[in-house]
Amino acid sequence: FPIIRAQSSPDFVPEAKFYKVEAILRPWRIQQVSKALLKMGIRGVTVSDVRGFGAQGGLTERQAGSEFSEDNFVAKVKMEIVVSKDQVEGVIAKIIEEARTGEIGDGKIFLTPIADVIRVRTGERGEKAERMMGGHADMTSTSSLST
Ligand code: ATP
Ligand code: GLN
Repeated sequence: FPIIRAQSSPDFVPEAKFYKVEAILRPWRIQQVSKALLKMGIRGVTVSDVRGFGAQGGLTERQAGSEFSEDNFVAKVKMEIVVSKDQVEGVIAKIIEEARTGEIGDGKIFLTPIADVIRVRTGERGEKAERMMGGHADMTSTSSLST
């Protein structure tokens, strides 16, 4: 049941009920990604405007000027999504599907185990706090039971 099924899975992945999927992506793909996530019942998402550099560095961009700021950091969006363990691979696959262009600079995804989730409004913790209204559980129970 490894969380990461890819070629070079780490030997040890800390067990947790929840994981944070942190994706650094091209800003102009974010709307497409979030729309697809919403469709699959993912309603809790945090985004931040960030700037960074990876392999994209300063050399390989096709149109310098358009994507670069003066200091060669590229504008990206960081998307953070905390989900239950069984949603992790689906979310990662969806992000790749929607964000990938095949060009250098598509971004990277980091996966982190999360110790707990606490809803400020109610003080709920764990599963109760992580579950969203209209989220995965609601969607699956609605589609299989009624109408
Ligand atoms: P409530 O029912 O009280 O509204 P909620 O669980 O819907 O609680 P919010 O208080 O609406 O959560 O969330 C506030 C912010 O927290 C969101 O705008 C989002 O940025 C972030 N957030 C909430 N849930 C998640 C999540 N699972 N993953 C990432 N970010 C989240
Ligand atoms: N696991 C939550 C649910 O299915 C969704 C979490 C999220 O939207 N980030 O309701």
